[in-house]
Amino acid sequence: MPILRATDLTKVYRRGASEVRAVDGISLDVEAGEFMAIMGRSGSGKTTLLDLIGCLLRPTSGSLEIDGGSVIGASDGELATIRRERIGFVFQEFNLIPTLTAIENVMLPLRYGPRRPDGRGEARALLALVGLEQREGHRPTELSGGEQQRVAIARALVNEPAVILADEPTGELDSATSGRLLETLRALNRDRGVTTVIVTHDAGIAGRTDRVVRLSDGRIVADERHDAPGFRAALGGDPVSNGGPRVRARPGGLLERARGR
Ligand code: ADP
Ligand code: MG
Repeated sequence: MPILRATDLTKVYRRGASEVRAVDGISLDVEAGEFMAIMGRSGSGKTTLLDLIGCLLRPTSGSLEIDGGSVIGASDGELATIRRERIGFVFQEFNLIPTLTAIENVMLPLRYGPRRPDGRGEARALLALVGLEQREGHRPTELSGGEQQRVAIARALVNEPAVILADEPTGELDSATSGRLLETLRALNRDRGVTTVIVTHDAGIAGRTDRVVRLSDGRIVADERHDAPGFRAALGGDPVSNGGPRVRARPGGLLERARGR
């Protein structure tokens, strides 16, 4: 069963008399453990699709299942629970809290979830996993762009999400830093089984994933799988190759769990 299943997903924005079909009937399955990219020109609907999948937006029509459970009938509170517990977001602008240290930023999502007495230890382990064990007391202004995005990735992982959704995560980074960031995401995917969907218009980044979905005018125009057995072997020197425990499987349906609180 796919971890994400969109069926005929559509988002229409109305502006006065005109309407924009930002996402126009997209059907897409993402299997657990996939490492994939969504490409397309500016305005092709990439962010809208990612925000629909991440339950930040409600679709105009169509259906969306996460972990086998439909999210279409969910209340706002249930959607918030799904976002918090099952989705890890990474944005182009990092979106760290400037007054908090790296480790405090990573721990932030724990404030809104179930109590985790091991929170600080887990945050520290995640910072080590992204290669920042020496930076936990630094504030965002004391970190490079690449380091800030690593903090954001650690923060996205702290609630053990089913999927990481990253919208142009390397958009603000130079190409060498982008390459290292992609290696980190890849290693998390390989070692912890984190399903990862990366929106990018960098063909170099997309070409290093396993699957590239291309959008144009809100529709999928190509869906290619890159079978590159040499790719993983070619990834050397990543900081997370002996990572921590794999993401725990959580029994029960998504909405049932959200409602069970
Ligand atoms: P991309 O991320 O590929 O650049 P977006 O998903 O941001 O594309 O936008 C897709 C289309 O939807 C564009 O035509 C954009 O102008 C339009 N759009 C996006 N967000 C809104 C909004 N909140 N209101 C109206 N139109 C929007
Ligand atoms: Mg966008």
